[in-house]
Amino acid sequence: MISIRNVSRTYGHGPGAVTALDRLSLEIEPGEFVCVVGASGCGKSTLLSLIAGLDTPTGGEITAGRNPALMFQEPALFPWLTVEKNVGLPLKLRKVPRAEREAKVAELLATVNLLEFARKRPHELSGGMRQRVALARTLALDSPVLLMDEPFGALDAMTRDLLHDELERIVQQRGLTVLFVTHNVREAARLGDRIVLLSSRPGRLKWQGRVDIPRPRRIDSPEVSSLAAEITDRLRDEVASHAR
Ligand code: ADP
Ligand code: MG
Repeated sequence: MISIRNVSRTYGHGPGAVTALDRLSLEIEPGEFVCVVGASGCGKSTLLSLIAGLDTPTGGEITAGRNPALMFQEPALFPWLTVEKNVGLPLKLRKVPRAEREAKVAELLATVNLLEFARKRPHELSGGMRQRVALARTLALDSPVLLMDEPFGALDAMTRDLLHDELERIVQQRGLTVLFVTHNVREAARLGDRIVLLSSRPGRLKWQGRVDIPRPRRIDSPEVSSLAAEITDRLRDEVASHAR
């Protein structure tokens, strides 16, 4: 579904050049939920923008499904548009006829449990609700691939917990393939079928492993906690070896 072969990305030239990603290879199967974890600045956002086609690798090759949909930590909603208009915007830009658009928006808002907030504006919503609007707008693109860049990083733990449940349900219902970037190892252990650990800059594949914990999972279950602790140790080794 997504194939990343020996991909590098260096910003700038000469002595001041920064290598954000170094010869990274990764295969993501259709329907797989892969979490990418790594220290700040290790190239996680760079990786997603390369896969989304917003940026071009300086080495290697990427193949990804038809226009993957990208979602960020900041919901980036238009404050003057209602919830339904924000969600419908990508459809409007694609010239989807109005009746079809309205039906689709209603379905998407029902999916993220926001139907009764359709006429509200973003400032009338909580942070979690705004992020659900952003998720609905991302889903409006009908892409089989969802790229998420720390989407719940700014939310409180309780809200994040609810959104994990919602995202898991939506991903399963729609059979989506997800690449989910986070620096939160618990979140990765809660959500992922597989976890990929990147090294500190330059980002290289440090470690990867399957998550065999049965679903539904709870972020505070002993299994998720112990896997999170194991990954934290690997991450700590990585950061320590980098500092030496
Ligand atoms: P992460 O998302 O893991 O925190 P990024 O992918 O945003 O990391 O950045 C990786 C490295 O590349 C950082 O050192 C960052 O400063 C650098 N970088 C990212 N984008 C650019 C850019 N457009 N120009 C120069 N350097 C950049
Ligand atoms: Mg980032």
